[in-house]
Amino acid sequence: MGNLQQEIQRLLALHKAEGQKAVWLSDHNRAVLQSVPVMHKPVPSAARARVTPVQAAAVPPPAAVPPLAFQGRMQSRPTELSPVVTGGAAQVVDCSALDWEELLQAAQNCHACPLAADRNFMVFGEGSHQARLMFIGEGPGEEEDRQGRPFVGRAGQMLSNMIKAMGFERQSQDPARAVYIANIVKCRPPHNRNPEAAEVQACLPFLQRQIALLRPQAIVLLGAVPLRCLLGLAGINRYRGSWLDYQGIAVMPTYHPAYLLRFEQQKRKFIEEKRKVWEDLQKVMARLKT
Ligand code: SF4
Repeated sequence: MGNLQQEIQRLLALHKAEGQKAVWLSDHNRAVLQSVPVMHKPVPSAARARVTPVQAAAVPPPAAVPPLAFQGRMQSRPTELSPVVTGGAAQVVDCSALDWEELLQAAQNCHACPLAADRNFMVFGEGSHQARLMFIGEGPGEEEDRQGRPFVGRAGQMLSNMIKAMGFERQSQDPARAVYIANIVKCRPPHNRNPEAAEVQACLPFLQRQIALLRPQAIVLLGAVPLRCLLGLAGINRYRGSWLDYQGIAVMPTYHPAYLLRFEQQKRKFIEEKRKVWEDLQKVMARLKT
């Protein structure tokens, strides 16, 4: 056991020296590592990026984050050692100490769930790191996967129009007008199906860290999937329009733009459902003004 512990520590130190921010460990190796109360040779940076099972709780306090440019098209193929899923159990990078750049890199190199296999691009998120308002959808669709950007299809156009109507701007870096847009999972589920529980479990720490770094004043959850995955609540009809809380941040669930588009040909229903979303967004606007 002792030799194996030292060997794992030596490899972590080696990856750290090569500039690598995260590595994957099997359950067995992680257990071996965690059984060591004090490391023989401390490797703080590698240790903070070690792989652990998903920790659903504890989003750390906000870090001072400099404004960065928009993260558009991302590199899809890993440039460093890629994580491996072992034994069918979801394992994820411990993102809790990563800054924006490290988080992006970890997501680009992530193979923690099967969605990595067919992606063209990992869709990290987009917007200003100073944004007060965040939107969260469920996952990239076909067009998002092709472009590496969130909400760029027809539903994305509708979301952009809503954001504009609220007095915000997707491309703005002005904190007063800027937004940040992300998804529950960062790679496209095939045929636009809902992400499966193991995929959500593997991917959620990326989003949790994005929220912790951003610390927006308000989050808008778009549809049932983010409501269930982030807050564990089922029933978008029940909760839409009501203020909820995530780690001290005000959360407003509302319908996903793709849901509204389903009624495009039924004018009356379309207007009705759109009005509900607009009422929800007006509550957000009022809150951000105070
Ligand atoms: S969906 Fe998330 S967890 Fe799965 S491979 Fe992509 S980035 Fe990794």
